Amino acid sequence: MRYSGFRVIKEALTGHKGWKPVWREPEPKPHYDVIIIGGGGHGLATAHYLSKVYGLRNVAVVEKGWIGGGNVGRNTTIVRSNYLLDGNEPFYEFSLKLWEGLEQDVNYNAMMSQRGIINLFHTDGQRDAYIRRGNAMILNGADAELLDADQVRAEHPYLNFDDARFPIKGGLVQRRAGTARHDAVAWGYARSADLHGVDIIQNCEVTGLRIENGTCLGVETSRGFIGASKVGCAVAGNSGRVMGMAGMRLPIESHVLQAFVSEGLKPVLPSVITFGAGHFYVSQSDKGGLVFGGDIDGYNTYAQRGNLPVVEDVCEGGMALMPMIGRARLLRMWGGVMDMSMDGSPIIDRTPVQGLYFNGGWCYGGFKATPASGYCFAHLLAKDEPHPVATAYRLDRFRTGRMIDEKGAGNQPNLH
Ligand SMILES: Cc1cc2nc3c(=O)[nH]c(=O)nc-3n(C[C@H](O)[C@H](O)[C@H](O)COP(=O)(O)OP(=O)(O)OC[C@H]3O[C@@H](n4cnc5c(N)ncnc54)[C@H](O)[C@@H]3O)c2cc1C
Repeated sequence: MRYSGFRVIKEALTGHKGWKPVWREPEPKPHYDVIIIGGGGHGLATAHYLSKVYGLRNVAVVEKGWIGGGNVGRNTTIVRSNYLLDGNEPFYEFSLKLWEGLEQDVNYNAMMSQRGIINLFHTDGQRDAYIRRGNAMILNGADAELLDADQVRAEHPYLNFDDARFPIKGGLVQRRAGTARHDAVAWGYARSADLHGVDIIQNCEVTGLRIENGTCLGVETSRGFIGASKVGCAVAGNSGRVMGMAGMRLPIESHVLQAFVSEGLKPVLPSVITFGAGHFYVSQSDKGGLVFGGDIDGYNTYAQRGNLPVVEDVCEGGMALMPMIGRARLLRMWGGVMDMSMDGSPIIDRTPVQGLYFNGGWCYGGFKATPASGYCFAHLLAKDEPHPVATAYRLDRFRTGRMIDEKGAGNQPNLH
């Protein structure tokens, strides 16, 4: 079934009886060409591109819970490509280009909204760093614009300019950045993959990897053994657990990150805003809620909920940046488990086990990467070689010292 305006009108006039389930609920087959562990954004995007672009149809996605129950349905929905380093910027710009055509590609409304992002700066040194980053973005074909304090005030008059502890001196803007409806992204990819023949198997937890003579033969699951020629792991915050089943210890720690949504307000924020003197970022959803977040909680955990000190820290950041946020009531908050790598950048690579591939280390920036991550992981699984924009995301870079430390924070996963 293809979705269109015509279809909506037809269904409205005929009692909405023609809509079909968005994906099937198949029983697992004994063997697949490729099994992807994890039905989050990255796993589903991988299945979509594997089947649609690379023509592999005998593919399954196995998900321990339900589609969209992980970080893909828990994030603050920001998409952007404002990176500095060579290993990152071409990848994230490729991703943003895929975002721009995503809804047509999967024929699903993901509410992609290019409302822009502004990274505020508060010191001269920070301005110089942002100029450098903006230039790197432009050199890689992305868009970037530097605003001074007056220009920021004209676009965002509600920010605290006059009695701020950290006066706003300007901002780096990417107009093509924005937000997308996170769970619709998962549903859109799932639907498209299903249409191209992929089996999406929910409530099927991978409990072991069957490895013989250094080769992965398939996955042990809560619904029995499923054989596969290739197995791709895309389980985000559970990366350490699943790859531990292959005896691998990853350069990744799991941490919790929280998100917050206020009650619905009239339109006030035209774009995504990030505070440069503390960790706080905010946008406004189409329903009117202010969607915001800040730092990870800073301790290792697999819990999908956080603690109060970070709530206080995030609220302090919000109050410093835009005191009017103190008038809004907090409606809900939740947490997701982040796969924090040692240099803050991801991994898309083969592993020492034949037939076993790994995708992870997305930290708290993996939503924006969803399309490119899926595309590049599909490329690797189909062709056994890295996609040109993902060649830097090697697993052995931590051993060889080729770190992609975007923030310059060193090997401190809780600081990236
Ligand atoms: C609060 C919060 C805010 C964020 N904000 C942003 C943002 O604004 N912008 C941005 O770019 N990124 C953001 N992120 C990060 C982003 O959400 C993640 O990096 C990204 O979603 C991770 O990839 P995924 O979608 O595949 O993960 P997930 O959706 O977590 O998918 C992994 C899946 O694997 C499944 N799984 C785990 N173990 C097993 C097993 N043994 N067997 C089978 N299945 C298994 C899980 O159930 C899960 O569904 C945020 C994250 C959080 C939590």
